[in-house]
Amino acid sequence: MLDADYATRITAASSAAHGVGLDALLITPGPDLRYLLGYDAIPLERLTCLVVRSAGDPVLVVPALELAAAKASPAGPLGISIATWQETDDPYALVASLLGRVHAVGLADHMWASKVLALRAAMPDVEQQTAGRVVNAMRMRKSPAEVSALQGAADAIDRVHAAVPSLLREGRTEREIGRDIAELIVAEGHVRADFVIVASGPNGASPHHEVSDRRLEHGDAVVVDIGGTTPEGYCSDETRTYALGDPGADYLDAYAQLLAAQMAATASVRPGVPCESVDAVARDWLEGAGLGDFFIHRTGHGIGLETHEEPYIVAGNDLPLEEGMAFSVEPGYYIPGRFGARIEDIVVCGSDGPVVLNQRPRDLVVVEP
Ligand code: ZN
Ligand code: ZN
Ligand code: ZN
Repeated sequence: MLDADYATRITAASSAAHGVGLDALLITPGPDLRYLLGYDAIPLERLTCLVVRSAGDPVLVVPALELAAAKASPAGPLGISIATWQETDDPYALVASLLGRVHAVGLADHMWASKVLALRAAMPDVEQQTAGRVVNAMRMRKSPAEVSALQGAADAIDRVHAAVPSLLREGRTEREIGRDIAELIVAEGHVRADFVIVASGPNGASPHHEVSDRRLEHGDAVVVDIGGTTPEGYCSDETRTYALGDPGADYLDAYAQLLAAQMAATASVRPGVPCESVDAVARDWLEGAGLGDFFIHRTGHGIGLETHEEPYIVAGNDLPLEEGMAFSVEPGYYIPGRFGARIEDIVVCGSDGPVVLNQRPRDLVVVEP
């Protein structure tokens, strides 16, 4: 992202806030601050807050000891005014004085409750809403630069999945394998591993199982769902399912239906299609195959500066897809006590169809022990 992109975003957020009757957005450290200002400030107890006024220029409020860090962010080159506070000052009174007489403000969705309440105490008559109603709509529609950042993240996690078969051996624990995968996630171009799910055998029936001390056995199916954050702040998230030797005919039949459901849902992506229709395509397919009761979560979630963000690909969300929206398509089935499977790709809604960012083969990868 160029510094100028952040200036454009702040201006757009300011006018969108005005459009919904908010006098200001108060953005503390987190993905909204990174999106609007490119400032990856650490969330701490001291108040750092970008005050985006709907009438007036933005001001970045920072503790005096953070001034150098704030100036090193795009706030420096963009010449955004920075108001510092000393250890014994009241930063909430400072924010209130910058706002003057206002009626309603939007608070960053990730703002700490302690800060929300301190702002309420400093401005008791001001209505508090979420900034998300303004910022989420912006973040959901990715620019070409953001799509290429997500492609970089997808390429990196593809390289990790390419190495997974070599880590799966009978007798190794999920935890050992997970540790190796976490190292590879960093080695392949992420700044950190955000999550590592290695769900073997019956553990595969729990969608958010992480790792355990269970040792892999012959015939296990292993659901591997992994992701990290790249230096630009964009997230990866990809699931592939592996088998250690032959997982059995029941498993292979169900997996073939899952693959068909995942591909049909992906193929249905195009501008104007409601989010819930993409979910329905996967769900209807699995219901037709007798697996509907075992598909116990939504089909997908948006992705960007957070692993889970809008838009959610779920029944009840009639939001029409637009070019640039990026989200996962990840149907699965989970049969308690027996096994599970999931196939997940990150998909961007292109001008006339889906653009699939992950390129690893989606077939069940059978690792011969
Ligand atoms: Zn999940
Ligand atoms: Zn995932
Ligand atoms: Zn996901």
